[in-house]
Amino acid sequence: MIKVTGYAAKHSFSRLKPLEIERDEAGPQEVEIEVLFCGICHSDVHQVKNEWGNTVYPSMPGHEIVGRVTKAGSAVTRHLVGDLVGVGCMIDSCGTCGPCTNHEENYCEGPNSWLATYNGPMVPKAKAPDGTNIYGRDNTFGGYSNIVVVKEDFVLKIPPSLKPADAAPILCAGVTTYSPLKHFGVKAGDKVGVVGFGGLGDMAAKLAIGLGADVTIFTTTKEKIADAEHLGAKGIWEKDKEAFAALKASFDFILSTVPEKHDINPFIELLKRDSTIAVVGALEPMAPVNNMEVAFHRKSVAGSLIGSIAETQEVLDFCGANGIVPDIEIIPIQDVNHAYRKVEKGDVRFRYVIDMASLKAEIDDQQES
Ligand SMILES: [Zn+2]
Ligand SMILES: [Zn+2]
Repeated sequence: MIKVTGYAAKHSFSRLKPLEIERDEAGPQEVEIEVLFCGICHSDVHQVKNEWGNTVYPSMPGHEIVGRVTKAGSAVTRHLVGDLVGVGCMIDSCGTCGPCTNHEENYCEGPNSWLATYNGPMVPKAKAPDGTNIYGRDNTFGGYSNIVVVKEDFVLKIPPSLKPADAAPILCAGVTTYSPLKHFGVKAGDKVGVVGFGGLGDMAAKLAIGLGADVTIFTTTKEKIADAEHLGAKGIWEKDKEAFAALKASFDFILSTVPEKHDINPFIELLKRDSTIAVVGALEPMAPVNNMEVAFHRKSVAGSLIGSIAETQEVLDFCGANGIVPDIEIIPIQDVNHAYRKVEKGDVRFRYVIDMASLKAEIDDQQES
């Protein structure tokens, strides 16, 4: 067993505090990684507060992990000790179902679905049809910690052109937006709308611009319109009814990144005939969709969930090759509770990334006590 120090919440109402846990030593096909940076995703906040009703405590979040390989199991072939690597939202999947054999592990249809980097299988033991848990554990602990141990197939290579801290948000925010942009065929010259301008929206806009699209960002924060223009996109305030009327039936694709229930009907009206709006930010029931608008112009309302391991590597390489980097603010782990409050208020431009070197003070404390 390896002794690991991290930050975790013990209940839905508690703050994140230092916690010592144990991880298994790296098996033959696993690597041990010293965590250097970990992004703070809005879903970390949802999960810690049990807002999806499935949180297993203690909850140690973190699925935008960048670190260095410190040990490699005897059968590992893809990564060497010293490599700069990343770990995103998943650390395992059943490996045998249709989606898994088609390299779409994020849609794993195995009995427990995929194994999340923290909070255990997406379908935990109690809910699996035959009562078994193929991963043998009900909880997993994420990257708000000094060490993670992960199966090599779920470990990504960080291109040398990306700074380690910049790469972190690409592992969730990046792939979550890149996957639907690619799946729904966004190409150069397309008119693409991005709804919501937080961590996901920032990456969605930059990636769509990188693909050659003409991008418009819709935001509820008037002050962010200038940020949109700074990226090379158009910025529209969501309360600007005239602007909406002028954009009717003009978009080839719209991606909604708003991290909670919201009304997508005003955006459906902006789609061209046969075009799609995909929702990636919210996972709860949404406001009813006006099917008159959808049916009369054969529009589609779709969803999309993170991305596969292959797509995660692809988006890392795409960002590395095209100089696409998220806007980040690096913080010490001691500021994580304060950062959560800012994320909840939407008061962050645009992604917090924890510098895990700051955890050293806590580890020294643990060793002294
Ligand atoms: Zn995330
Ligand atoms: Zn599967």
